[in-house]
Amino acid sequence: MAISYLRVSVTDRCNFRCRYCMPEGKKEFIPHPEILRYEEIAEIVWVFSQFGVKSIRLTGGEPLVRKGLESLIYQLKEIDGIREVSLTTNGFFLGEKAEVLKEVGLNRVNVSLDTLNPEKFSYITKADEGALYRVLKGIEKAKETGLNPVKLNTVLIKGFNDNEIEEFVRFSADFGIEVRFIELMPVGGQFFSRENFIPISYVKEFLEEKFGRLEPVKTVKMGPAKSFRVGDTGAVVGFIPSVSQHFCSECNRVRLTSNGKLRLCLMSDREIDLKSVLRSPAYSRELLRKTIAGALLLKRNVDGIEALESLGCSRKMFTIGG
Ligand code: SAM
Ligand code: SF4
Repeated sequence: MAISYLRVSVTDRCNFRCRYCMPEGKKEFIPHPEILRYEEIAEIVWVFSQFGVKSIRLTGGEPLVRKGLESLIYQLKEIDGIREVSLTTNGFFLGEKAEVLKEVGLNRVNVSLDTLNPEKFSYITKADEGALYRVLKGIEKAKETGLNPVKLNTVLIKGFNDNEIEEFVRFSADFGIEVRFIELMPVGGQFFSRENFIPISYVKEFLEEKFGRLEPVKTVKMGPAKSFRVGDTGAVVGFIPSVSQHFCSECNRVRLTSNGKLRLCLMSDREIDLKSVLRSPAYSRELLRKTIAGALLLKRNVDGIEALESLGCSRKMFTIGG
């Protein structure tokens, strides 16, 4: 499958400490000089655009904690061939940033939200009580500003939010926001265990039993999520079965970490160091182009996630960006 989508992590820092993402007591982050400068990210994206990448998603850590993110978005939107720049955020700073993000050309935003209950929100993110209210205000502002479609990313965790599936369906119907249910992946902090895992198949069965048929929604398919109308509730939900159903043959994406490593697969530690190419005295665009061409060839020739997975994934999610 052609690579048309690049996820760029702009920082490994975050104002939240989600239990399934950041290890307990995490204090050390990548030193600033090791983080790619915006100009360096734009240079890499330019080369990717020459290979047919059209869509960029900015992620983190929390991308909105990095200063001047709007200048990066502006630079990326200036690149011929880049049609869309989107953002995955925890939503905490969205209220204050939505307008400027829209002005510089951000197309749309996904907000991660695992519970609609303030106390549970505070428990899972370790943020102050009141943070949920700010996130909800941020979502509202993003919609108002026209960063559409705004979508929710909801990681399902047994014993934590499996009793809120119906509430998320109502939320989707009331606010016209697609909710994408994501399987908990075994790459996070201390919070993952098999007992906490809920397969997407369970959610589908639950929704069909409760609300009737899930009607597929026609979308321009950019990723692994498939969207469905939930009976006649008016809600639209998506499913990301990243653990129970691999989608290697449909994978159109690669990832760039904040310290300049190109990851060919979320679940594999095979990384190509683009920062050392960019910062080498012998740097030329041709050298970067050749390095990226080699990496993409490797991705095309690897026979599915099993081959890549055999390398394992030792990074935590906040360093990759999901
Ligand atoms: N801070 C931003 C946010 O939370 O949206 C962007 C970075 S975060 C790492 C990107 C996505 O990864 C979020 O939707 C988060 O819920 C998801 N994520 C983190 N750890 C995960 C895990 N162990 N399993 C599944 N999804 C995870
Ligand atoms: Fe931060 Fe996002 Fe990870 Fe939560 S999921 S700790 S908000 S990077």
